[in-house]
Amino acid sequence: MPPKKVKFKQKVRPKSKASKPAQQKFQNIKAIEVLRKVGWGIDELSEKIIRNLEKQKSVSEDAIARRLKMRVNDVRKPLYALAEKGVATYEKKRDPKKKWWYLYFWSLNRERILGLVRETKMKELEKLRKQLDDERKYEFECKACQKKYLHEEALEADYLCPECGATLETARTTITIKKLEIEIKRLETELESPQ
Ligand SMILES: [Zn+2]
Repeated sequence: MPPKKVKFKQKVRPKSKASKPAQQKFQNIKAIEVLRKVGWGIDELSEKIIRNLEKQKSVSEDAIARRLKMRVNDVRKPLYALAEKGVATYEKKRDPKKKWWYLYFWSLNRERILGLVRETKMKELEKLRKQLDDERKYEFECKACQKKYLHEEALEADYLCPECGATLETARTTITIKKLEIEIKRLETELESPQ
């Protein structure tokens, strides 16, 4: 029956292998920023190489060298350094022109980078939770001199400020505590959502 319909269907572009949301999510993550945040020294050359790898699924060493106007040998070292850290991976294929020769195709290890993002966020969350605990442990305060005291300290001083003698009051939730709570909630939500 209607051949038109078939034709129309054929025009629909095939879906890419990676699901779109996952790919978009990755593109929002700047590999360089992640690597710097986890404290990895990324030099200028490695940065240029990563930017090249970000653009494509896989790039040959020769293409990277050509784009950077460098010799293949000079881009290999930083590429292997990235591979050692698990950030980049390579695949070797026989050169169709020179059969005894291999061509190396490089890709960013997206899983590893997403894992690093997660690790960074978990560390940050741990740090913030500790800060919040520290902030909350001062249960009493003196409004006159703005000093804060631990529960035991307040008890020992009969709930009178050791500095000025004013009555100690329950410490208010400070802006710092509120900010920490918001930030912790944000990180928790991010970590709960699937990557
Ligand atoms: Zn006081």
